Amino acid sequence: MTRTPSKTPLKKLSLQPGIIYGPVQSRRLGRSLGINLLPADYKLCSFNCLYCQYGWTKNVTFTPGDRLKDLPSPDAVSTALENALAEFSRGDKAIDAISICGNGEPTLYPALGEVVAKIKKLRDRYQPDARTAILSNSSTVGDPAVRVALALLDLKIMKFDAGSEEMFRQLNHPAAPVYMGEIISGLKELENILLQACFVQGRVTNADPDSVAMWLEKLREIRPLGVQVYTLDREPADKRIERVSAATLSWIADAVRWRSRLKVEIF
Ligand code: SF4
Repeated sequence: MTRTPSKTPLKKLSLQPGIIYGPVQSRRLGRSLGINLLPADYKLCSFNCLYCQYGWTKNVTFTPGDRLKDLPSPDAVSTALENALAEFSRGDKAIDAISICGNGEPTLYPALGEVVAKIKKLRDRYQPDARTAILSNSSTVGDPAVRVALALLDLKIMKFDAGSEEMFRQLNHPAAPVYMGEIISGLKELENILLQACFVQGRVTNADPDSVAMWLEKLREIRPLGVQVYTLDREPADKRIERVSAATLSWIADAVRWRSRLKVEIF
């Protein structure tokens, strides 16, 4: 069911150079101010997705160890965010969301709960209508402390784009000891989550009917609030994979709608 992808060239995306970036016009969040809790000069991630817009993860890790010294402190994050929000408020500019995302996997940040509490206080003071959000690869949802921090946020957009352990390893290349079964159990423990799935074809394809059927089965198990499906928007780490066509995304969205009875959006 994969069809010819668009041939428009994909643009490269650079790493975020600091703690605060944007606001950017996000496909999912509207006008969103981004927070990067991760290093400014390299990607820190527990996955090495073939489609990553930041290129390959040089050190795929679940335990950052001495790389923790490269992360900003909760106070530095709070100060940077307050400065940015104060400037917007002086200009009377509204934002739709404050989103934790950045150069890799944000839940690897060890003081996530503390930083989320600070973000919420600042949001309430300066932009009370903005939603707080996180985009996570779901690798840490087995950790109860991470789930407590995630529960504080308005929007939890969690990656889930493979329906089998084999596809998960081929597409996302997780660090040991991350297994799909644990991710599914952790996601089931979280309330009000949105799942996001990137569909690609080429050297690895997760958009064929068999792969989609296995993925739908897992969606029915997790029961998220909704599902977001998309394809490549930027140049992928592995140049041998391609975006799927709009017709393929539309077919997958219909399958989510009718076979899993879940809300679905195409981005
Ligand atoms: S989880 Fe996100 S940041 Fe990490 S490799 Fe995959 S796409 Fe890139």
